[in-house]
Amino acid sequence: MNTLLLKSPLAGWCLPLSQVPDPVFAGRMAGDGVAIDPTGNLLHAPCDGEIVPMPGAQHALTVRTTSGHDILLHLGIDTVQLGGEGFEMLVQPGQQVTAGQALLRFDLDLIARRARSAVSPILLASEGAILRRSENCALAVGDFLMEIGKGAAIGGREANATAGGMEISRYFDVAFDHGLHARPAALIAAALRPYQARVSVIAGGRRGNARSTVAVMSLGIHCGDRIEIRATGADADAALAALEPLLGVAGRTPIDTPALVAGPATATQPARMEDFGRLAAVVACRGIAIGHAAKLTLAEIAVVETGAGAADECAALGEAIAKVRMHLESLANTATGEKQTILAAHVELIQDPELAARADEQIQRGKSAGYAWRRAVRSFIDALQAGGDAHMIERLADLRDLENQVLLVLSGQPPGHARSLPERAILIADELLPSQLMSLDAARIAGICMARGGPTSHVAIIAAAMGIPALVAAGQRILQITDGTMLVLNAERGYLDVAPTDSERAAIEHDLAGRAAQRAADLATAAQPARTRDGVHIKVYANLGALAEAAPAVAKGAEGCGLLRSEFLFLDRRLPPDENEQAREYQAIATALGDRPLTIRTLDIGGDKPIAYLPMPREDNPALGLRGLRTSLWQPQLLTTQLRAILRVRPVAQCRILLPMVTDIGDVAVVRASLDALRLEMGIDQLPSLGVMIETPASALLADQLAGEVDFLSIGTNDLSQYSLAMDRGHPELAARLDALHPAVLRLIAMAADAGNARHKEVAVCGGLGSDPIAIPILIGLGVHEISAVPATIPQIKRVIRALDADACAALARRALQQTNATEVRALVERWLAEIPPAHEPKPRETSQTMSGE
Ligand code: PEP
Ligand code: MG
Repeated sequence: MNTLLLKSPLAGWCLPLSQVPDPVFAGRMAGDGVAIDPTGNLLHAPCDGEIVPMPGAQHALTVRTTSGHDILLHLGIDTVQLGGEGFEMLVQPGQQVTAGQALLRFDLDLIARRARSAVSPILLASEGAILRRSENCALAVGDFLMEIGKGAAIGGREANATAGGMEISRYFDVAFDHGLHARPAALIAAALRPYQARVSVIAGGRRGNARSTVAVMSLGIHCGDRIEIRATGADADAALAALEPLLGVAGRTPIDTPALVAGPATATQPARMEDFGRLAAVVACRGIAIGHAAKLTLAEIAVVETGAGAADECAALGEAIAKVRMHLESLANTATGEKQTILAAHVELIQDPELAARADEQIQRGKSAGYAWRRAVRSFIDALQAGGDAHMIERLADLRDLENQVLLVLSGQPPGHARSLPERAILIADELLPSQLMSLDAARIAGICMARGGPTSHVAIIAAAMGIPALVAAGQRILQITDGTMLVLNAERGYLDVAPTDSERAAIEHDLAGRAAQRAADLATAAQPARTRDGVHIKVYANLGALAEAAPAVAKGAEGCGLLRSEFLFLDRRLPPDENEQAREYQAIATALGDRPLTIRTLDIGGDKPIAYLPMPREDNPALGLRGLRTSLWQPQLLTTQLRAILRVRPVAQCRILLPMVTDIGDVAVVRASLDALRLEMGIDQLPSLGVMIETPASALLADQLAGEVDFLSIGTNDLSQYSLAMDRGHPELAARLDALHPAVLRLIAMAADAGNARHKEVAVCGGLGSDPIAIPILIGLGVHEISAVPATIPQIKRVIRALDADACAALARRALQQTNATEVRALVERWLAEIPPAHEPKPRETSQTMSGE
């Protein structure tokens, strides 16, 4: 009989195509068939046939039968944006396979977490008709799936097309983020359906039938590629015109965003930019910006698999890695602070011997340099992902970045090749890579909005260091925004407004101008102390991570450093800094601060800050394991070396020692004993003040006991919120709810402040809440007298303090403690602030050198 039987390639639940959460597949534009919601992790061949090459598609496969039918197996929806992550091809293009053979291994968990859906369409993507099919039933691999007979399915019309006649052609620049993968290819076929013309797509010197999804996919067309479409027949002109709204024309992006790049689970996509409205996102770096969308895409760089000989490929890879390394080193040499730390980490990573060994192994197996490098990096990525640690998963972008940089150099581009940006660009990206951001002209970037990413990712940290407002986790929908669209990015309230109206735009411009003027005025008075209206001096200190940040912080009005995160000196290096190096660094920071206090927090590693050279035991729950002081007590020589280095700073009394992640007074006793021994050994008369971080619920609850043993308390609101709300501080999904103004956290802060004040011990806040202007009245009201903030926010924080009355703040704080959640607390403070008169500004100094810091 002239039919073809297909067996189920997946175990899972079989559903009709109409139930696929994607209009292109549900509308059968890519072909007729069924869908399977998989339960396993292996895709098998549904029939005998040959694997059709589809460059760059690792999430989909096509099996071509001897009868010429193309069976498209598309794993999940929107999985193209995973860039191959979570997929391992078990077969080669052109390979003959037999029914039931394993073709592709996939990570179902990853697809479930990161893609729109795991439901996988299994389609007849060529001529033919489906006679029978399974639907609404559970399937095991090998069960009956469908029976295909003769007849026209898709592409059939072309068989009747009027061949011959003049061939006309038009060029298009592909604007789909992931190139012409299954869904764009299907849309092209659907757009051509009303026409009779014979239409082909030409790219990279190859030609494919434009009506065949598989033929178009197998051309391996990337975003940004220029393609030619040729048509012959009576309605050739009309057929090409029909593609224009979808593909745009060369040199011009499509008028309407193609409704298929990615998107939420809703079937309809906005056709006009105005219809996007407001998109919610998570704040990664506070600020507001208005500007034009500049989409940064990371097209998969095509690599050939087979090498030209191990020696040549090895040399090519070595040279490309060396070029990228030298480029990174030169950037690191001129960078400062966090940016430098991240670049230094990349320099280390690119030289990782394990990475080199994995690439070499591939080259020795006959693979090309590019292929080998990609395989090596991706196997690293898989291993990190398998660990499931959210912080590590955020670091995957760093690896993808290095993969890309080396592949670009192998393809003949210079390292650090950057795209030019319009003025006031708001970068839109799926996930911006650190090198992409650093290679761009910072002066042109007004803001950043990423579809994915977490607020503690490296790129978010770099954005903060560059002072660029940034939003993350905005969702795939932002990738449909066309270049040049006007955007308002509000990284204070966490949203992106697409195509605002003229009046909305004018209001924002007016607001931004007002903010700029306010910033200048704040800076002019920043060097002066901040007193409340009723005369209470609130010290405003800076949080620092490196020497380079000290002088600029003083220029912003910092009266000292309330938190030196000393771990930044220890991270991303092969060996720990020795006593001399530490002593030099601490002394240099103390000197840069003049006579202002320097609070050095002892090493706070472990948890979300692992260090490579310290072989930490594997922990199921690192945030609750050996981190902060616990690491130092577990490796006492680390602590002793650090304490010795701190005690060498002169004058000794300028330093204060702060202990992280303290639980109870037992922790303090161990450090006190160590300090006493060192004092005798080093012949020092007076020890620096000793304080503890209040960042575990235990330390807040026992703050009265701790205050009896130490000289000061410093409240770490980042961890205190994480541990009291039981929400991982690095979790992108929870980021919006992890708010330290939650009344549960405020009650712990109140306990700590009361305990410190009762014993006349200084009570400071050095966590993120201290940099949040809305939180300042509450903190003062709860009895906090020292705020240590991100340097850039200090002038504003001082202005806020000057407008407050400490007694009124105390009344406000009492009300805040009675609210039921953080949103209510914020609303309460906002209403309250709106009613108080503006600050009575101190007179600016005649010659204010602080202006230079802005
Ligand atoms: C905190 O937890 O609030 C804090 C200041 O420490 P870190 O953010 O460095 O963990
Ligand atoms: Mg902390």
